[in-house]
Amino acid sequence: MKLAIHQAVFGPLQNNVYFLVDEDSRACMVIDPSFEPEAQLRLARENGWQLKQIWLTHGHFDHTAGVKALSEAFAPPLPIAMHPDCFAWAATQPELMKMGMQVDPVPRVDIPLGHGARLAVDPAGGEKAVEVRDVSGHNPGSVLFYIPELKAAIVGDAIFAGSIGRTDLPGSDFELLAKNIRERIYTLPEDTALLPGHGPATTVGREKRSNPFVRG
Ligand SMILES: [Zn+2]
Ligand SMILES: [Zn+2]
Repeated sequence: MKLAIHQAVFGPLQNNVYFLVDEDSRACMVIDPSFEPEAQLRLARENGWQLKQIWLTHGHFDHTAGVKALSEAFAPPLPIAMHPDCFAWAATQPELMKMGMQVDPVPRVDIPLGHGARLAVDPAGGEKAVEVRDVSGHNPGSVLFYIPELKAAIVGDAIFAGSIGRTDLPGSDFELLAKNIRERIYTLPEDTALLPGHGPATTVGREKRSNPFVRG
């Protein structure tokens, strides 16, 4: 098994959508499919990636807008992996949050995620190379996907290069986010790449030393 991560930017909020691919089998997970699901399908097709599951870091609409269309583009529909707390929150997502945009709600959770869960990139018997960590605070039930083999973690909106996720939103909690960043992100090896939901990648070491919001 040889894994690779491909990043592409979609939607009005410039969301990073990640494609985690097993290069041997071409099995592919799409993480946080934002807007423009047709373009995501096209990208997968052009690269020969076989979409297997949809994984979500949290329930904000800009990360989930493409879930329903992408899932239902397949028969049977692509399974959706998400923390149940995020799903519950998203079901009551205040309309105001959506900035007037029409967004399909996440239809269901097929694979409930929780802290410490392990996931395989190829569901047809691949090794469970991905560790789930609960990094709630920006949104209840937020998770990251840590892939030790790639020295990378897909962190959603928990932390950004030089910043952290907003905690002024309904359901957000700054103290909890800061605790989870210290205990569950800053404890990863320093050279781990942090791949956020928006903006450029960073590393654990760089944020520990210079993030102005949560000191290492
Ligand atoms: Zn968010
Ligand atoms: Zn976001």
